[in-house]
Amino acid sequence: MAELKISEIFHSIQGEGSRAGLPCVFVRLHGCGLRCSWCDTPYALDHREGGDMMDTGAVLSRVASFRCDFVELTGGEPLEQEAVFPFMTELCDQGFTVAVETGGHVDISRVDARVTVIMDVKCPGSGMMKKNRPENLEYLKPTDEVKFVVRDREDYEWMRAFIERERLADRCGEILVSPVFDDIAYRDLAAWMLEDRLPARLQLQLHKFIWDPDARGV
Ligand code: SF4
Repeated sequence: MAELKISEIFHSIQGEGSRAGLPCVFVRLHGCGLRCSWCDTPYALDHREGGDMMDTGAVLSRVASFRCDFVELTGGEPLEQEAVFPFMTELCDQGFTVAVETGGHVDISRVDARVTVIMDVKCPGSGMMKKNRPENLEYLKPTDEVKFVVRDREDYEWMRAFIERERLADRCGEILVSPVFDDIAYRDLAAWMLEDRLPARLQLQLHKFIWDPDARGV
């Protein structure tokens, strides 16, 4: 039986993206090769320490126990674990609506076409910009979403140029602009987007307003 290294599995409200506000089961996979400066899941990064190996059948049972048909694979970096690819297919076959959040540095072409890919493009403020994988842009589907986490005006300007240069609005279903929590002034970001007529959705991380921003499992 295939296994996944799991950080946590929980039922909560989707805080981001086009499905924000809807109930969702989150499967957080453990381990990530990146170290974004603003990462809000530092406890789920180290491939050598932490996390629990679970066979995919047990993960599926746990997911099903919540009686919620929307499942998001997140992390850490889910696509760094080989077993996640057939697991996503299995979830789709079982009738779940499935999304995967990825940092964008792993090949997304192997993700089951039924899965919504929510892919980061890393801005300069993340410190991980060089890890962006330009080839992934070719594999985006109309149902996929691309997310930029923006820390400051420099990040914003970099993102704006990227969206225009890559004709990103034509490649995916949603462009998400996500301010670093409690860092950049949300009003400034909103004003810049309006002024530039940016073809994107401003998103605040809903779960951090509902619960303690540092709470886990929500
Ligand atoms: S890719 Fe995601 S999980 Fe990995 S360090 Fe960056 S924000 Fe954290």
